[in-house]
Parts: sequence; C-alpha cells; structure tokens
Amino acid sequence: MKKRIAILGSTGSIGTQTLEVISQNPDYFEVEVLTANNNIELLIKQARQFQPNVVVISNSCHYDQLKEALKDEPIKIYAGREALHQVVEMETIDVVVTAMVGYSGLIPTCNAIKAGKHIALANKETMVVAGEIINRLAIEHKVNIYPVDSEHSAIFQCLVGEFNNEIEKIYLTASGGPFRGFSSEQLAAVTKADALKHPNWDMGAKITIDSASMMNKGFEVIEAKWLFGLKPEQIDVVVHPQSIVHSIVQFRDGSMKAQMGLPDMKLPIQYALSFPERLVSDFKRFSFFDYPKLTFEQPNTKKFRNLALAFEALNQGGNMPCILNAANEVVVQAFLSDKISFLQMPEIIEEIMSKASFIKTPDLDDYIQTDKEIRISTSAMVKKLAI
Ligand code: MN
Repeated sequence: MKKRIAILGSTGSIGTQTLEVISQNPDYFEVEVLTANNNIELLIKQARQFQPNVVVISNSCHYDQLKEALKDEPIKIYAGREALHQVVEMETIDVVVTAMVGYSGLIPTCNAIKAGKHIALANKETMVVAGEIINRLAIEHKVNIYPVDSEHSAIFQCLVGEFNNEIEKIYLTASGGPFRGFSSEQLAAVTKADALKHPNWDMGAKITIDSASMMNKGFEVIEAKWLFGLKPEQIDVVVHPQSIVHSIVQFRDGSMKAQMGLPDMKLPIQYALSFPERLVSDFKRFSFFDYPKLTFEQPNTKKFRNLALAFEALNQGGNMPCILNAANEVVVQAFLSDKISFLQMPEIIEEIMSKASFIKTPDLDDYIQTDKEIRISTSAMVKKLAI
C-alpha cells in the first residue's frame, strides 16, 4: 500500500523537495492533496504532474485562474483558509506534511491530528506556539509526529533502538548562519540581501532570516523540548559551521550518538515519510576528505540575542513562546520590507515580551488571541521605529 500524502505548502522549499522525494519513490508514496498560498503557476504545474485528488489555494483571489487551468484534470479545487483547515480531514490521507510558513500551520495541524493523520512536521512554529496542545492531541488521537527539521530528525534517528534509555542531554547543531563571528558594528550594518545568503542550506526567505538571526535555532530548542520531552537544561546549542553533524544525543551513561551527512533536506523529509524503513537514495554521499576538519564553538548569545530570548520564553513557558513567535513573524516581515534594521528585530521582540500579558496555562483560544494581540502591538512598534 502506498502512503497517501497531503502537502500543506507544496510550493515552498520543503514542499518542492517533498515532491522530489515522492517522485523518486513512486512505489512508496502518492500525492493526495497539495495546498499553496499564492504561487499559482507552480501549484498548477505540480497538480498536472502529480495528479492529486484535491488542490487548495489559500488565497481565494486565485480560485478562478486555478479552476480554469485545471479544468481538464480530474482534480477537485477548493479555495480559502477554511478549505485549507478542512482538507486535512479527508479519509484518503495517511500523512500530512506541514510545510507552510509560521503560525498559519497551527490550526490545520491540530485538525489533521484530530482526524487521526500522522504528521511529518516541517512547520516548527506550530510546536513553538502550542507544543503542549499538539502533544496532548497526538496522544489522544494516537498520531505520530515525525520531525522533518534536520536537527530533530537527527535526534530522532539517534533514538531509534534506544527504547526506554533516558536522554541525558541533546546538542542541537547550528551553522551560525552568514554572520557568524561578526562584530556588533558589522551586525548593525547588515542588509536583507546579506541575510538571505545562507552558507549551507537553501531555504525559504523567512527561515533564512531566522537562521541569520539565530531565532531559528531558538525555535528549534523549543521544538525539541516538545518533541522529545526535555527540560530546558537538557538542551544545548553548539555552533558547527560545516553542517555535517546534524545533532547529537547524549545518554545517561555518557555515550553520545550523532547523525551525520551532507546538508540536504531531502534526507530528513524522506526519513519522516518512510520511517521506520530507510529507502534507497541517490543523494550525494559525504566524503571525509572534502571535510578534513569539523569544528564546534559556543554560540554568542550576547550578539545573537534571539537565542537567549528563546531560552527565556522556554523557561517562562505558558504563552511566552507564542508571544516570541508572533513578534518574530512581524519583525522578520518588517526587515524583509526594509522597515527596520537587523538588530532592531531582537530589540523589538524583547520589548514586546516584557510588556505582553502572560498566561500560565493557555488553551487554544488563548494562543489565537495572544497571536492576534502581539501582531498588533509589534506592528505598532515597528511603525514607530521604522527607518
Ligand atoms: Mn533546522
């Protein structure tokens, strides 16, 4: 039986790489649903090639164009955010790949879990915002959450076969991004174009900025807490500029296991879809002699404030990670539209975190409300500070 896959965010970086994995393994996977926000040309092309049962375009403005373009195909077409929220419940889906950007992943992910669908989780913001709720739902509906994030996939792979052996600690590796080793003066002057050049990974714009600012690593710390049931003090970040060691687990006897390979997101995507099996691949193999030196260093949380802010949000818990995420989504957008500088991003987030109203045990509605309020207050602050 082929696994029937729904890809939420099929036109993004993870979405397109997921389709590559599927097309390389046609005996194992088939595409059931594709969804996108705005990239209608690519969605049409993907729909023609992969022949899903359903496509959804979130932005309803594109509905007529999509319908017209696919009128000769036996594909159902829906539009709007409600359709996106509901399509994950379809009987014929086995696994939902959550590859959309940011907070928008939360509701469809919750709905997919409630409908009993396994999740290949690429949308880390969902875990950052509401990891506790996601875990509770997953247990209640007997759903597995397979990490797609390369670091979390690495941890997951290191845990295979360890049964009940306790984790003492994990080390999440970070490339350090394009500004590793920069002085504060240099950081103050970096541009959008500089930030969009990641040394090792080819990713979407939002996550590339998050990587440059280290917010991505901060989110991954929070994601790891929920995926692996860890306390904050069990999670360490180590900068590893070559991105070959994808992360490390240390067990209670002191033994450490690492997962390694060339940086290619197709590998963690494929593993999330094929687990527990490993499928044959032609991904480029690692050569030790291309990398005679693998290096490790401490992250600089004074210069890269976001990592410290994420640990603070993690320690405070409640709706604080949701506040962190909402403020970050607004400042990243503002930075990408040249409204604020690189270093203003963490400044604004810190200020918002200190002023926001804290809820110790939020429910889903509290998260939705928090997200809405923080977007408003952060946008107001951006406006005040805009260059
Ligand atoms: Mn990652």
